[in-house]
Formats: sequence, structure tokens, C-alpha cells
Amino acid sequence: MIEVKNLTKRYGRHLAVDHLNFTVKKGQIYGFLGPNGAGKSTTMNIMTGYLGATEGQVLINGHDILKEPEEAKRCIGYLPEMPPLYTEMTVMEYLRFAAELKKIPKKEREAQIGAVMKLTKLQPVKDRLINNLSKGYKQRVGLAQAILGFPEIIILDEPTVGLDPKQIIEIRELIRKLAKNHTVILSSHILAEVREVCDYILIIANGHLVASDTPENLENLMSGTNHVEIEAKETEEAVKRILNKIPEIRKIKYKKTDHQTLIAEIEVKGQIDIREKLFFAFAGEKLPLLTLKLNKSSLEEIFLELTQEGNSSKFKKGDKRQ
Ligand code: ADP
Ligand code: MG
Repeated sequence: MIEVKNLTKRYGRHLAVDHLNFTVKKGQIYGFLGPNGAGKSTTMNIMTGYLGATEGQVLINGHDILKEPEEAKRCIGYLPEMPPLYTEMTVMEYLRFAAELKKIPKKEREAQIGAVMKLTKLQPVKDRLINNLSKGYKQRVGLAQAILGFPEIIILDEPTVGLDPKQIIEIRELIRKLAKNHTVILSSHILAEVREVCDYILIIANGHLVASDTPENLENLMSGTNHVEIEAKETEEAVKRILNKIPEIRKIKYKKTDHQTLIAEIEVKGQIDIREKLFFAFAGEKLPLLTLKLNKSSLEEIFLELTQEGNSSKFKKGDKRQ
């Protein structure tokens, strides 16, 4: 549906987007996640035809955004980081104006504006000047404008920035609703937000795509950080004797608890899940385990690790994925 090939953008000598490659498939919510300055807005501006690329290509449903902008843009609704709202217009006037710009046929306009206002809950303020609206309502007007024409793809640049928690929840709900019939791409520098709303995450740092996968797979991807924690009512010697026989174990940390039990934090080589093996090893010796659990590294840790400079090579294999 969207193909981004080798996309590169230089501002003078500064490389803002560095050979990005990815594809976006129909019907999911994609999240561009990266710290400020990572190149998210630049990428989105190029994908939507607002900005030219230095190198590379963007295809929207097979149409090159530069060579066939009309066909390509017809498939996209865009909410830029700073939506160009005409603040001296009322909400209704602005949406009529936007519908005209989008070349929505005259006889469909009013019905579409009505539908979009309903979706974004703008009806109560439809005759108010945009200038006098709260930030939350202004953002909804921007969203309404992006949705007009019901394009297949909706691209939202940091849609919740500057909103209060209640407004954030409302916008997220709206995004989920939109995703039922549209492909949604949104950007954010907030991990929790992307994890909560997106089916697929593209992590960008310094203009590079450093990882791309589902939130679950990203959490699984972290190699060498597979930890298992066990707790037993035994001495360290007894536990050690059993664990020493398991070759997949790389490192063990022992901790005594105040209730006469021993916790062992076991680091495992690679991606293997050794829980069953541990269970049978202890059961075979008739030593009961009180706890046996897998501790995965959190997405938070992965994000921090990936977005620190020079730390991305480990995840390069994700690059080729969509
Ligand atoms: P993000 O949206 O992820 O915060 P941007 O795409 O806005 O990142 O910016 C990426 C990099 O490009 C930043 O280092 C930013 O300072 C730089 N940049 C963005 N726009 C311009 C511009 N018009 N001229 C020069 N540098 C720019
Ligand atoms: Mg930005």
C-alpha cells in the first residue's frame, strides 16, 4: 500500500532522513516512534508530498508521490505537526473550505462534513471561530480535515502532543475507530502511546530505521536478555547443584529472601525458553519450585537502547521487514 524506498533527506549538510526503507500494509495502525529530531516529521512530510526528498521514492498504492501527486494524495489524509488551521474561520467554514480543496464533489460535501464532525464530536462547536477553541478541539478540527474524503490512509504527526490526559484518551479512541476502516500511521516520541495504540512499530533514530516489528516481537527480539527467575525453599548449594547441569545458563544471581527461600535470577544464552527444563530438573530431584517465571526486557529498555547513538546495529535484521 505504501512503499518507502531508500528515502533520504538532507537539510544542507545535515542528514535528517538516512536511506529509510519500509512498507505499510493495509488495515493496521503503524507507529513511528523516535526521540525529538529523529526525522519523523520530515519522513511524514515527504510521504504526503509536502516536502521533496533528496533521494529515494515513495509509492502510494503504486503512485509515485512526486510524479503522480494527484493520484497519490487522493489516498492520503494528513494531520501535520502544525496543522494549517485558518483561525478566523468557524469550524464549519474551515471544513467546507478543506472539502473544496480536496475536490470532494459538491453534492457530497455537506453529508461528508456532517459525518466527519460526528466522528470527531465537533458538532457542538461547529459555528465557533477556530481561534477561540481549546487545543483539544483545534486538534480535532485538524483531524476532521485529515479524515475528509475518507482516504484509505490517514497520517497523523504527533496527534496527541499538547493535549491533556482526557483529550489524549479521546483522540486515541478516535484513532482506534478510524483504524477499523483505514490504515493509520501516527508518530510519537512517547513509547507508551505507540505501544497502546499501534499494531506495528517503526523505531527511528537519527534518520535511521533501527527496528520495526509488532510490540510483542520487539519485546522478544532483545537477544541475550532472556531471564528466568526461580524461587525454591532450598540452600544455595542444592540449587546450584541442579542449575550447574543445565548448559544453556550463562549467569546466575542468588538472593536470599526474608522468608527462608532462595531466588535465583538466571540469564539464558540466546532466545531459548528453559522453563520446562528447569521444572523437570527440580522435579527430578524432588525439590519444589515456588516460582518459575520468564522476565522479558521491556519495550522501554529496547527503545532506550535503540535510540542511543551507535547502538542500532544489533537490530539491523528488523530493517528489511515491513
Ligand atoms: P522529528 O519529527 O522526529 O522530531 P524532524 O523530522 O522534525 O524530527 O527533524 C529531523 C532533523 O532535521 C532534526 O535534526 C531537525 O533539526 C532537522 N530539520 C527539520 N526541519 C528542518 C529544516 N527545515 N531545516 C533544517 N533542518 C531541519
Ligand atoms: Mg516531529
